Amino acid sequence: MAPEKSKSDCIFCKIVSGEIASNIIYHDAYVIVFPDINPVAPVHLLVVPVKHVASLAEMKEADAALVGKMVAAANKVAKEQGLAKNGYRLTINCGADGGQLVQHLHIHLMGGRPLKWVN
Ligand code: 5GP
Ligand code: ZN
Repeated sequence: MAPEKSKSDCIFCKIVSGEIASNIIYHDAYVIVFPDINPVAPVHLLVVPVKHVASLAEMKEADAALVGKMVAAANKVAKEQGLAKNGYRLTINCGADGGQLVQHLHIHLMGGRPLKWVN
């Protein structure tokens, strides 16, 4: 199934469209960044494509550039948030075993304290 531009029942599409208010801290034509509602680190932001892509497993070859834009936006915001010196983590969960709860592709940007590895 082709990725849709937006999906009416998708919470992140609703944040992208403004239907659900969020504190958007970065926005360009392709990517938005807003705080995770349930932060697990002093900085915990979600880097979300404007276009609805359900997951890494659903992304098409043509979405590779989009994922690159997401990473570039994450790095830019990480710098703005003062995380560049001590470091930070980008995480993409995919599917049930990957712990993905929201079916709209997103990168978790986490930092502000030393992070343990998860398994
Ligand atoms: P996942 O488990 O899919 O990788 O991560 C989904 C993340 O979205 C979770 O960390 C969760 O706290 C966050 N989240 C779920 N619903 C909302 C919401 O309505 N607003 C925001 N800002 N974050 C949400
Ligand atoms: Zn969506």
